Amino acid sequence: MIECGICERRCQIAEGEYGYCNMYENRGGRLETRYPEHVSLLMVWRIESLPVFHFYPGSRTLVFATAGCNLDCHYCSNAYLARGRLEDIYLMRLEPEKLVKRARQTGCHNIAFAMNEPTVSIDYYLAVAEEAHASGLPVGCLTNGYQTEATAQRLAEASDFINVSVKGFDDHFYREYVDGESVAPVKRNVEYYHGRTHLEVTTPIIAGLNEDHIGRLAMWLGGIDTNIPWHVFRLLPEYKMADRDYPDVRQIANGLQEAGLFLNHIYFGNFAGSQWLSTYCPQCGRRLIERVGLGGCGVKPVSFDLEDGACPKCGGVLGIEGGWVDWDSAETEEAV
Ligand SMILES: [Zn+2]
Repeated sequence: MIECGICERRCQIAEGEYGYCNMYENRGGRLETRYPEHVSLLMVWRIESLPVFHFYPGSRTLVFATAGCNLDCHYCSNAYLARGRLEDIYLMRLEPEKLVKRARQTGCHNIAFAMNEPTVSIDYYLAVAEEAHASGLPVGCLTNGYQTEATAQRLAEASDFINVSVKGFDDHFYREYVDGESVAPVKRNVEYYHGRTHLEVTTPIIAGLNEDHIGRLAMWLGGIDTNIPWHVFRLLPEYKMADRDYPDVRQIANGLQEAGLFLNHIYFGNFAGSQWLSTYCPQCGRRLIERVGLGGCGVKPVSFDLEDGACPKCGGVLGIEGGWVDWDSAETEEAV
């Protein structure tokens, strides 16, 4: 029996068995990753669609995913990857240097691990980051934040940006709906990532489950830094909650008015015609980045009005990293 110290579940894994995430195995008393350096998908997205709004706006991101997750959100929209049997998922071997080469070939400016949890493929993620940095590409990930302090440290050191999905405000929510023990490690890690890497936070809203967490989450996040971008995501439940209603846009928008007292940048998306996608100067109200929704979680920035990361009218600083990046600006490598 060995203990896996990678995520906060700290699974006790018997010889020949897997941990909860399905990705770490006890092989002869050693913790080994199953399907090392394998991807389940590769996609080219705008960085805004991750979502990441305050890091090199407009840039082109190579998204990759593996399989497995250390939580089990009952409403998960990627459950086939997160909680499916690995044997049922087509996984393709793609060494870190080849993945970075794919980014070059597709004209990407950066690379992101998304769709399932990077914590369950930590060695691969770190190897990709090292390879990407060697060739000048930033790397980031979307995570549920449910990793140990040691893993959080490794993730922060390797990442140029991290978006943590904070799913609810209290332990009850984590036990009841995502099969975690407590929200405490997630909050601890958000605080740890702040200032160590570019940080954004996402909260999926599930009808009848966590609309009333909005105010408390905003107050807590604003206490860390009022400039942390917060993405409130209208989640259309799938998996074990596929019969649930969709969230009520108007009700959530009302809650966000109050949340705006605590945070400067609240975004609300995944529905047609959202007016909550653009960035405004918190000091003078000038619109600095205009974004339009493209349906689903697709978002495109259409104008950019910052000078050296500051508002050109009042000089207000927002914590936006990097300037505008033209979608077609990266030099592409010839395919071989
Ligand atoms: Zn301003």
